[in-house]
Amino acid sequence: MNIPESVKDILAVLNTAGFEAYAVGGCVRDSVLGREPEDWDITTNASPQEVKKLFRRTVDTGIAHGTVTVLQGGQGFEVTTYRLDGSYSDGRHPDSVTFTPELCEDLKRRDFTINAMACAADGEIVDLFGGREDLRRRLIRCVGNADERFREDALRILRALRFAAQLDFHIEEGSWEALKRHAPNLIHVSKERILTELNKLLLSPHPERISLIYEAKLSAYLAESFPRLCCAPWAAELPEKKHLRWAAAAKALDVTELRELLRELKSDLDTVDCASLLLQKWKKPLPDTAAGVRVLLSEIGAERFDELLLLKQHEAADAAARAAELKAAVMAAGDCISLKTLAVSGRDLIQAGVQPGPVLGQKLKELFQSVLERPELNQREILLEMLEK
Ligand code: ATP
Ligand code: MG
Repeated sequence: MNIPESVKDILAVLNTAGFEAYAVGGCVRDSVLGREPEDWDITTNASPQEVKKLFRRTVDTGIAHGTVTVLQGGQGFEVTTYRLDGSYSDGRHPDSVTFTPELCEDLKRRDFTINAMACAADGEIVDLFGGREDLRRRLIRCVGNADERFREDALRILRALRFAAQLDFHIEEGSWEALKRHAPNLIHVSKERILTELNKLLLSPHPERISLIYEAKLSAYLAESFPRLCCAPWAAELPEKKHLRWAAAAKALDVTELRELLRELKSDLDTVDCASLLLQKWKKPLPDTAAGVRVLLSEIGAERFDELLLLKQHEAADAAARAAELKAAVMAAGDCISLKTLAVSGRDLIQAGVQPGPVLGQKLKELFQSVLERPELNQREILLEMLEK
């Protein structure tokens, strides 16, 4: 297995000081699959204090959980002491964390066999639960007793679905049955964590796997009223943008339903607004005149406009092609599609004798509407003349 130099350096420092150290978890899984790991985590029998003594630049990321971030080659790497998770009484967090001298104990606490492999500095893989075999068979399988694992931490239920979508794997039957049994446990998972997993699922190469939520009958435990999300297979071709994938999944919903769901899951407002706007416009026919295209551009901007076309393309290809052509012409002509490029400003109107206040806003809006209709009117003299009439 190919380990990056910075990671090798960290493992070497720990090994030279007499400690065991391995790359572990997602990075091993991804490397074996030939995918680029997002981050490299390291597990060691050195205590956090010992790790801090060995490296010049460290950050106390989660000392209580045994994690120190080591800065190496301009990057941060989480180095965590081998640990066992104590009992889980709340269905989400271990009551206590205990350090252990045994690598196998640390691997045992991990969620799925494919996430429970460690890799030494020389590339040798420690695979105690058949992770490589499951990678080959494209299976997501719990480490140990599936019922216990989902009872301990219900977030694992959503992680299973998310990995199925990211890797295009199946969930092994025993784990799948157990996952369904423990669905009610999901009420212990914070809304933020639920959203993070749903985002990863929707941004994956298989967003249509969102259907697993309903197959496993999880929806009642995810939100107050979790609506019917559904992605067409073509959603996988959409750019990996949260608001766009959420809009795509919300085709069957009202705009308010989508808004309420994203708000309940504590989504950032920008995603809520952009996804809702896209869904709202998706439900309406595309404009088929240049004036209509300018109005739409003025409402949602060029970026959202292009995203809207991507959504429309699959059900109204001709209309989408025509709108794209019209948009290209409007942009090439430099037509005014924003108040910012209107040839008169509020100040001009005041100078022309309009009282500041709501009337001024109304007048500006009327002039802007006329310009959207007929871009050739966007000249100061013409607009001021229109104002007088
Ligand atoms: P990603 O590609 O999203 O980073 P990952 O598998 O690396 O996927 P992380 O959340 O970064 O996921 O966690 C790193 C490792 O920690 C996992 O591979 C797994 O071994 C372990 N892990 C993470 N979350 C859990 C959990 N809820 N229960 C058990 N083990 C977990
Ligand atoms: Mg990771």
